[in-house]
Amino acid sequence: MSRTVDPEFHRELAAFGASDIMQCVNCGNCTAVCALSQGDTVFPRKTIRYVQLGLKDKLLESPEPWLCYYCGECTETCPRQADPGEIMMGVRRWLTAHYDRSGLGRRLYTSPQRLWLSILARGMIPLVLLAVFHLWTGFRWIVTERVELNRFAPVMWVWAAVLIHFVFLGYRVMSGAWTMSRFVLGAGASPTTIPLAAYLAEWKTLLLHFFTQKRWRDCGPRHVGQWVQHLVLVSGYLTMLVLIVGLLGWFQTDAIYPLYHPQRWLGYVATLALIYGSVAMLVGRFRKREPVHKHSQLSDWLFPGFILTGAVTGILVHVFRYAGWPWPTYGMYLVHVMAMVAMLDVEVGIGKWMHLIYRPLAMYLAAVKRRAASMGTPAAAEAGQPASG
Ligand code: SF4
Ligand code: SF4
Repeated sequence: MSRTVDPEFHRELAAFGASDIMQCVNCGNCTAVCALSQGDTVFPRKTIRYVQLGLKDKLLESPEPWLCYYCGECTETCPRQADPGEIMMGVRRWLTAHYDRSGLGRRLYTSPQRLWLSILARGMIPLVLLAVFHLWTGFRWIVTERVELNRFAPVMWVWAAVLIHFVFLGYRVMSGAWTMSRFVLGAGASPTTIPLAAYLAEWKTLLLHFFTQKRWRDCGPRHVGQWVQHLVLVSGYLTMLVLIVGLLGWFQTDAIYPLYHPQRWLGYVATLALIYGSVAMLVGRFRKREPVHKHSQLSDWLFPGFILTGAVTGILVHVFRYAGWPWPTYGMYLVHVMAMVAMLDVEVGIGKWMHLIYRPLAMYLAAVKRRAASMGTPAAAEAGQPASG
């Protein structure tokens, strides 16, 4: 098969944060030290070589960039200070942008101004919708003698808007996942060339890595703390997602339930998990002690920053509601929703958030390819080829 070679690719990748690529002399120390590099998925030397040679097609077909958890062990062992961990991160940003067929991901990754403008524009959507609703109803729905949040922002309307938004975001996620699958399963071939039995046999791999991210632990005892932080953050995030997308009619009520009611404690536990995980990430990025935190891009700050903003504004809505302050409650609720809409729109499908999907998906696809190769199907022949590190 003919390959497209782009000798200037390393310059393109520098815009995604991988700027030390040409320092690498391919000694292979990084691959030797990487605990996750094994079997037919070896990295990061091979990935870096693809970049140096401008082999974009090979890179697009590789699951390896997603199998890296950015523990930074390779960066600390590189004799050339090429920072292989950050190169892998830059490749993941480039891949995320490439899987997004709209091109928006690329524009937001490579232009902080566009990213901020996008956040601002998307954050205004709830404000405009709510303003239109109250203008249309002559402000009759706003109660100012006491807190009635579900009149200020009627929960069924809000829920309908959330569901419409999630259909749109779900399409983006599925589109990115489909594009990635087409590349990884082999030279742009259709995923339908792999037998269904191979997909079915590995579904547990997908769920296991999606929910546990457990390979992070294999990077060594020093990284178990990072794995726990991430796990706590993801569990809080998923709980909140279920409460808001699946159960908003039950979750956003004006009645204040007793503390033992699941609506209360589920909300509290999820909020605490989000605060713990996001603060731990932000503190790590401020301190810059670990290689993973040394080269934070705007996209790396935004994700935990948005999560923390969402958690803190959510708590304030709760406090103001308890205090019986209508306007502070309504105002803070609006700020909360604006921040969350902006976050979802610049992250889901096109930003850093997608590593939650792409990483377990890459593990799944690699396992499916191995499974298909063991079944002797031609579509997965490449999976059986020996790889050089
Ligand atoms: S990134 Fe560093 S350790 Fe890895 S192959 Fe290149 S020079 Fe060697
Ligand atoms: S950052 Fe860690 S997981 Fe990623 S390539 Fe380097 S050693 Fe391997």
